[in-house]
Amino acid sequence: MESRDEGDGFLSQEGALLERRKVPGRAARILVEGIVQGVGFRPFVHRLAKSLKLSGWVLNSTRGVEIEVEGTEAAIMDFYNEVSARTPAAARILKKTIKFHPPVGYSSFVIKESAEENLRTALISPDIAVCRDCLAEMLDESDRRHLYAFINCTNCGPRYTIIESLPYDRPRTSMRKFTMCSECEREYNDMSNRRYHAQPNACHFCGPAVQLFSRFGPVPSEDPLRRASELLRSGHIIAVKGVGGFHLACNAEDEDAVRRLRLGKNREMKPLAVMSPNSRTVMEFCDISPAERELMESPKRPIVLLKKAERCFIAESVAPGNDSLGVFLPYTPLHYLLLRPPLRAIVMTSGNISDEPIVITNDDALKVLSGIADYFILHDRDIVSRCDDSVVRVIGGRECVLRRSRGYVPYPIELNIDLGECLACGGELKNTFCLTRGDSALLSQHIGDLRTLATLNFYKSAIAHFERLFSITPQTIAHDLHPEYMSSKYALARGGVLVGVQHHHAHIVSCMAENGIGGDAIGVALDGAGYGADGRTWGCEFLLARLEGYKRLGHLRYVPLPGGDAAALEPYRMAISYLYQTYGQGFEFEARRVGERWARDKIEILTGMIRRGVNSPLASSAGRLFDAVSALLGVCDISTYEGQAAMELEAISRSDLAESYPIKAEVDGDGTFVIDPAEMITHLVEDVEKGAPKPILAGMFHNTMAQTILEGCRLSRQLTGVKDVALSGGVFQNKILTEKALKLLEGNGFVCHLHRVVPPNDGGISLGQAVVAASKARKG
Ligand code: ZN
Ligand code: ZN
Ligand code: FE
Repeated sequence: MESRDEGDGFLSQEGALLERRKVPGRAARILVEGIVQGVGFRPFVHRLAKSLKLSGWVLNSTRGVEIEVEGTEAAIMDFYNEVSARTPAAARILKKTIKFHPPVGYSSFVIKESAEENLRTALISPDIAVCRDCLAEMLDESDRRHLYAFINCTNCGPRYTIIESLPYDRPRTSMRKFTMCSECEREYNDMSNRRYHAQPNACHFCGPAVQLFSRFGPVPSEDPLRRASELLRSGHIIAVKGVGGFHLACNAEDEDAVRRLRLGKNREMKPLAVMSPNSRTVMEFCDISPAERELMESPKRPIVLLKKAERCFIAESVAPGNDSLGVFLPYTPLHYLLLRPPLRAIVMTSGNISDEPIVITNDDALKVLSGIADYFILHDRDIVSRCDDSVVRVIGGRECVLRRSRGYVPYPIELNIDLGECLACGGELKNTFCLTRGDSALLSQHIGDLRTLATLNFYKSAIAHFERLFSITPQTIAHDLHPEYMSSKYALARGGVLVGVQHHHAHIVSCMAENGIGGDAIGVALDGAGYGADGRTWGCEFLLARLEGYKRLGHLRYVPLPGGDAAALEPYRMAISYLYQTYGQGFEFEARRVGERWARDKIEILTGMIRRGVNSPLASSAGRLFDAVSALLGVCDISTYEGQAAMELEAISRSDLAESYPIKAEVDGDGTFVIDPAEMITHLVEDVEKGAPKPILAGMFHNTMAQTILEGCRLSRQLTGVKDVALSGGVFQNKILTEKALKLLEGNGFVCHLHRVVPPNDGGISLGQAVVAASKARKG
């Protein structure tokens, strides 16, 4: 095929023309960017090129994989399309480009060795669940890796959690200390092998090994995982070393074992995750939709929140007061060997005490977890990066990530704006941080509650590791406006170009950015608490949001939080505050069913504090309104974990059978509208007095909140003419409310945007902070 656009002029020379007869019609340089290194991409390219009779080469470079192909134009275009259509399981292509140029005359297709150049801009793959092929080999008695707990290949295995630095090569991972045996080495160097350049490649003979320990030392065993499985069945608690940290495991059907685990972990009520061998077994204790099943089986293997089945054989104390369970499937060969029949489900909760980071070293496990675990499954492959399990929930038929960690991190979030190099420090609870380079945002794994010293140290070292790993030296540092957040203090101490970002603006921009909205949007931010621009606590906000700024259009009426932070831990305080605000001083608690459980003296102290304005900061928080209603209905007076009152309220709610209460919005002196829940509170109180069923009242409340969102958006649209709505904040982890609000908004001509891969809770605000800071800088 002739092409004139190349302008190489070589047709004019007869010699060259003769030469050209031997070479194919066209040549092209293809650049593939994304996660394409260490995932079997080059052998795949090699096979594909050969099958299409193309010559040339493939090479790992700083930007990804570079390919040179020569052949007919049709074959080249087939190749270009197939590269993304038939990508290896673990690879993820973000971008590919093709550029045609004159042919060179390659005789064959080869894999070129990458020079020891700086590969730091290449991306790192998240950890990938064990693949089908490896699992089959592991269960095959004739295979040399029969029952090997660390079997892996280029399509599966640990990645991010074992990498110390780039380029991704065995000497820069915690596999460094294991020298491959000749058999493993042969696989590693054989291009036609599934383990070609699989960095964690290992076997019984040369790789990591499992050992069973009791509190008193090693327990000799032929098959430690079979022994551990028996120990689980007989009611023991075992600390199990995994990919991103330790788990504490026990039989999920054994009420006593679960209670003992809770006691040891100092975790009273917060739901525990359950691991089960396959989806079929999960269906025996949970209802599961096709979308939920797909997520659960995906190589990311997140914990998926599922509704408990009518007959659920899981011990009640695994998730007390909850209608759902967090369930995940095994994701390492070790897990499969541990979860042997007849075990159907085991608790697999993070191996830590209370809010401390999960334990990652053998020594720490033996020290810190020995008060809880009877036995320990240890191994000698070190965990470089701590990474909790990710948690997702299907909302509105789509994945909503509640905790973005293992399996997801450090996959970049692609934005269609250039952010330059920036560090966003995140929030205080459920903290993540975010580093940006160009149009990619690298969101960290779940860090946790920064008020714990150990977690704060983890935060600082994780930031340093990320900066080194991705070779980013940010000058712009974005942070929350809250002066007391440890993340804000970190930013201040660090210095640089500091940009403070309002909490709810960050929430909304995080949602806008991942949905590619660059213009105006109505932001609906519902959460527990965020530092407001007026110094008060915000949390039910309607904003006219832009990437670089926002205007507060409306909010929930302020109420006092009697006792400040204590109000978030004790929902009944919020009930009293709302009753006081609605009825005034004369509310007769003693004559009402509402609040009959509350001690008289407590009521007096709290109403006194509110009246005199002592330690009762004002808040417009949706989370605290959920708390108040949860306590008014007698569902939850005291929270033992964040979000408990709201979760239990959602769990009992029958919104399908309920209507909604009236709610009023009026325009304030400063032009913002204020939503007043007083009328809803009086109706609720009357219905409680009448003894109406709690599930219906909880449903009424959810429906009223959805109506409130619609009303707020209507008013916002009147004020601005904007139809795009971004929903963000921790309250949108609530499936009933989110789905209801979505339906109402879309039925009323709004275009709704929900989070997808970034959490709606405070785990997502670092992304928003980064985008706001970069956008402010750009607009000067
Ligand atoms: Zn595999
Ligand atoms: Zn080996
Ligand atoms: Fe928040």
